[in-house]
Amino acid sequence: MVGAVLYVVLFAFMRALRRKHATAPRGLCAGCAFVHMQYAVSGRNAVFCTFGGGVRAVQIDVMYCTDYRDRSAPPRVVSVGFVREIAPVEAAGWVP
Ligand code: SF4
Repeated sequence: MVGAVLYVVLFAFMRALRRKHATAPRGLCAGCAFVHMQYAVSGRNAVFCTFGGGVRAVQIDVMYCTDYRDRSAPPRVVSVGFVREIAPVEAAGWVP
């Protein structure tokens, strides 16, 4: 009988502990393109910011960051130079 009560109490305790970890909010860094995260088996994680080329440990749960970049957003296409479109050679009248 004591064993059954102990089992129920222990089960309730473990369930409450799991629920507490499941509802913990994730920091802003978790969705950032500059983050490097390491997840442990215990559910804990280590967060490192790679913005600016270096690697810095992030010691807090970031709520707002001026350098945040959504990691699920498509990459920006940047045009380089002044010519938007290069005309084909035939259209320019060049014949070899
Ligand atoms: S840039 Fe900001 S949001 Fe992104 S990983 Fe670094 S500290 Fe976190």
